[in-house]
Amino acid sequence: MFKCLLTFACTLLCATAASSQTVDPATLDNLVDAALADSWAYERLAELCDEIGPRLAGSPGMVKAKEWSVRSMKEAGFDSVWMEEVTVPVWTRGREWARVTAPVEFELEMIGLGHSDGTGRGGIEAPVMVVGGFEELSIRSEEVPGKIVLFDMPWEGYGSVATYRVRGTSPAAEFGAVATLVRSATDRSLGTPHTGMMRYAAGAPRIPAAALTVEDAGRIRRLVAKGHEVRVRLSMEAENRDSTICHNVIGEIRGRELPDEIVLLGAHLDAWDAGTGAHDDGGGCAMVMAAARQILQQNLRPRRTVRVVHFTAEENGVFGGKAYLETHRDELDRHILAMESDSGSFAPRGFSVDANDVVIADIAARCAPLARLAPEHWSVRRGGSGADIGFIVREGVVGVGHRVDGTHYFDVHHSGADTFDKIDPTALARNVAAIAGLAWVVAEPTARPGETPAGGPE
Ligand code: ZN
Ligand code: ZN
Repeated sequence: MFKCLLTFACTLLCATAASSQTVDPATLDNLVDAALADSWAYERLAELCDEIGPRLAGSPGMVKAKEWSVRSMKEAGFDSVWMEEVTVPVWTRGREWARVTAPVEFELEMIGLGHSDGTGRGGIEAPVMVVGGFEELSIRSEEVPGKIVLFDMPWEGYGSVATYRVRGTSPAAEFGAVATLVRSATDRSLGTPHTGMMRYAAGAPRIPAAALTVEDAGRIRRLVAKGHEVRVRLSMEAENRDSTICHNVIGEIRGRELPDEIVLLGAHLDAWDAGTGAHDDGGGCAMVMAAARQILQQNLRPRRTVRVVHFTAEENGVFGGKAYLETHRDELDRHILAMESDSGSFAPRGFSVDANDVVIADIAARCAPLARLAPEHWSVRRGGSGADIGFIVREGVVGVGHRVDGTHYFDVHHSGADTFDKIDPTALARNVAAIAGLAWVVAEPTARPGETPAGGPE
């Protein structure tokens, strides 16, 4: 009898939990279907990529992109749209080129790394020393003085190569290198060099740094392996300049019952000056904005506020994300969840959640009806969220990363190939549907993710 009562109580409790954690299935289905049939995100992304294009923070393109962002959020019908100031260091590329001058002459497909100093007028010419990593650099350190060090290592995932792009220059400079080159961080190349941020270590000589294509890095390595002295001439006008003021752009749909509780959908508006930032991260900006808009299009207004953030200056040091933390530190406990989309706009795969197991399981359950957006591929699992929201996630906000098929992301990432023609409108719409669905299943139910509901049914 006692066991029976216990079972009855549990059933009641579970039923209560379900009613406060789930949403009306038909409403969610309609929201997803409408997002799948809508091309607003694709049209906005075409404007951003083709009519504005490159938009490194501090550049004229970024000013136009910010205006696009404000205009689009207003067009989406958000209740409020505003900007928040972010101080950003300005870097300009100028003209740049590199060529092999011996033992054969050929032009190199190169791109300077973000925040590298230039070479000065006349450029630099020096023999190239090829190394496969920090260990080899250290072992052969006596050979480094006067050389251009080329880091050429096999692709074992983005981090394995990008670490030399970001941190490789200063160790080489400390051993006496006059410049560094790095093989582009990509696993497939059709002759496109890929840029990205680099950093100088405090006190290390500030030598110029650039990326080469996989093809050119390989040709130099093969020539050196045959015993040739390969000489490269490098010219870069790059300059680090004073800081300027950029802006995060924010738009909100105000919650109908819990307006102080925020579900944040973020992406970064800035993009490298190679390509037009279609996958990184124009698509993310278009998708998060379109996802929130789709809720309004369905004449829905969730209990909680849905806040869309277009962060500035992610590429050159995540300054927008840092500034957001400082500006919103007092309301972090009211951020119920923050999601970032910054992995491209390929076909959706689900979400990764940076939170405890209870929260992950709850979000996975709430998102289960969205699995139809990625048949056989959908999963909601533990994982990272995003660079911009990382600052508030480290302060305890539940972080969610938008996952997509990553097979071809690094083919185009930070290169001249990251352009609008690489965007599949169907995949883009499916992502909008997934993000709109996530926003709805978190912003509408009374229970927060992972929260055991208290009290009676709604
Ligand atoms: Zn990005
Ligand atoms: Zn990027």
